[in-house]
Amino acid sequence: MNGPIPDPPDRSFWDASPTLRELLQRTLSAGEFAWSEPRLREMGELASRVVAPLAAVADREWPRLVTRTPAGEPVNRVDYHPSYREMERIAYGSGMVAMKYEPAVLAGHAPSIHVVTFALGYLFAMAEIGLYCPLCMTDGVARIITRHGTAGQVERVVPRMGARNAADRWTGAMFVTERAGGSDVGANEMIARRGHDGRWRLTGRKWFCSNVDAQAVLVTARPEGAPAGTKGLRTFLLLPHQSTGVEIERLKDKLGVRSMPTGEVRLSETEVEEVGGFGPMLEMMNLSRLYNSVAAVAVIGRALHEARHYAGLRRAFGRSVIEHPLAAETLRDLEAEHLAAQLLTFACVEMLDRADGGDAEAARAHRTLVPIVKAVTGKLAVPCVSEAMELIGGNGYIEESPLPRLLRDAQVLPIWEGTTNILVLDALRVARKERGHELLLARIGKQFPGEAEAIGAAFAGLDERAARGWVDRLARAFELTLLAEAGLTGALDRLQRRPLGLIPGARMA
Ligand SMILES: Cc1cc2nc3c(=O)[nH]c(=O)nc-3n(C[C@H](O)[C@H](O)[C@H](O)COP(=O)(O)OP(=O)(O)OC[C@H]3O[C@@H](n4cnc5c(N)ncnc54)[C@H](O)[C@@H]3O)c2cc1C
Repeated sequence: MNGPIPDPPDRSFWDASPTLRELLQRTLSAGEFAWSEPRLREMGELASRVVAPLAAVADREWPRLVTRTPAGEPVNRVDYHPSYREMERIAYGSGMVAMKYEPAVLAGHAPSIHVVTFALGYLFAMAEIGLYCPLCMTDGVARIITRHGTAGQVERVVPRMGARNAADRWTGAMFVTERAGGSDVGANEMIARRGHDGRWRLTGRKWFCSNVDAQAVLVTARPEGAPAGTKGLRTFLLLPHQSTGVEIERLKDKLGVRSMPTGEVRLSETEVEEVGGFGPMLEMMNLSRLYNSVAAVAVIGRALHEARHYAGLRRAFGRSVIEHPLAAETLRDLEAEHLAAQLLTFACVEMLDRADGGDAEAARAHRTLVPIVKAVTGKLAVPCVSEAMELIGGNGYIEESPLPRLLRDAQVLPIWEGTTNILVLDALRVARKERGHELLLARIGKQFPGEAEAIGAAFAGLDERAARGWVDRLARAFELTLLAEAGLTGALDRLQRRPLGLIPGARMA
């Protein structure tokens, strides 16, 4: 320790994440845990000792749009600081995307591949959320093309998205949001025209394009004459480096996630390939929402790791901060919220594994749960990181600490991939259509029959204005169920005693 201000923690993020380890030990078979543990251990070390300092640099040295060469020639490209490239090398090199597309890995590990790769992603995102977004979209494009693309598209695109090394790799993006609106995707104005040569070309502008210089992009557009709303939208595959008429007009000057470029893009008669209707893009969004939830629990986990360390060493009134009962209570409350959100997120990940294995009920429950988990975890991230910063005090507010960046980064989590209200409405729409919530209620009912019945009864005549409260109550009941199933009685008792909406939850209701 260096004087009365504690030095930063020096622990691997894997060692600092015992709840993740225990969750994986409960979820994975012994063989699967033994296979993944060295990978997680390595990522935990790299994330804390290498990626975290690089992330601080990449946040300051953010990407620039270059429109002229030094000789004055027009160009249109994004320049990155080497710190970002190094983070990419570590992230993609770890296989957190690649493993999902490598036949040799899938042959032995397909049933829990999402749990393992999202656990790797969690450790990485404890250090860096900005780059976690392109990782998500790279996985997303690979997944959508695997599921909906032609054989030719699969052959050309998927091995590139699943490449571990930079020379072979294409990264992914999704261009959906336009000036006309992000929530109201059906208002998209980008036009798709099919030429006499049978090829599709897009014209229009996209307003928020993260990982803007990606090599494989899914884009929504409306064929001329197609109906209004999302019904008339189709999903296209754009390979910008193989097409003309792609211009990055500007990069956004963002509050957070500054390491990664988000741009505005103009397409002019740009050649694309058709993938399908709006359905494939919806699937892409659902995967992104799951990544968002993992990022949310990771950033809370990181902030608590910092606060726990600091409060253990910082002294006030003759003893360490953590020895003061009210400070300890605040930390325990935050830890209980984090544990519950982590369980909720990974329950949703586990359902995706089962859905991909052909379990139709898991797929139905997953589709209902995804918008709910994204809504509650995204919302939770900001107050939890803020509270952790407060536990550290003034030194947590200063940019030498990672907390300011974590707080700026966390604020995007409730906004992109759908704001809270939009997700709540989406959850309601999916639940009404597929009744996936009944599967969740059946599981809740085994632990808390009265609560399951009450939530089920409230659904029947649910008014839109009460929807946030209903979603929050369902999410909390499912969290308590997961805690009860795992025998985590400490956190269970704590959260049962805490009414919704009080700090540190400050949730949605
Ligand atoms: C850093 C960053 C990166 C992004 N990257 C991408 C990207 O890569 N690709 C992409 O396509 N998009 C991207 N987005 C866009 C993002 O998905 C949208 O900003 C988001 O979906 C909200 O859309 P909007 O900004 O148009 O807000 P609006 O749709 O205008 O919403 C404004 C407000 O109205 C509320 N609202 C709207 N409709 C309703 C309703 N029916 N009921 C209640 N409330 C309602 C919303 O909840 C919100 O609070 C990015 C955004 C950010 C900030």
